[in-house]
Amino acid sequence: MDKLSDKLKVRYEVFEDLPPTPLLKSGVSKFFETPWHLYGRPEIDLSKCNKCRFCWLYCPDGVIRMTEEGPTVDYARCKGCGICANECPTKAITMVLR
Ligand code: SF4
Ligand code: SF4
Repeated sequence: MDKLSDKLKVRYEVFEDLPPTPLLKSGVSKFFETPWHLYGRPEIDLSKCNKCRFCWLYCPDGVIRMTEEGPTVDYARCKGCGICANECPTKAITMVLR
């Protein structure tokens, strides 16, 4: 486990205590539903997920929530930027066409 994840674990003992993202203030999609024209959405293969929380950390719109099972995405507000897929160290996230 990387050091950043270790620090986050110390601060948040329970997954449900995690805020949608630490970057909440920079997000805009959190407050508006995604426009229809966006090209893709992330799909998460939980069998590949190690719960490192990088996707949750890097999502600029705060639409990923960590659960005991792994991350979940609010597709109504995800803008399809692909940052989560790019940052996932285990390649558990794939961007697919809407
Ligand atoms: S594609 Fe990923 S990083 Fe981008 S808004 Fe959607 S969930 Fe967040
Ligand atoms: S970045 Fe990838 S491995 Fe890490 S929690 Fe998100 S889906 Fe799982």
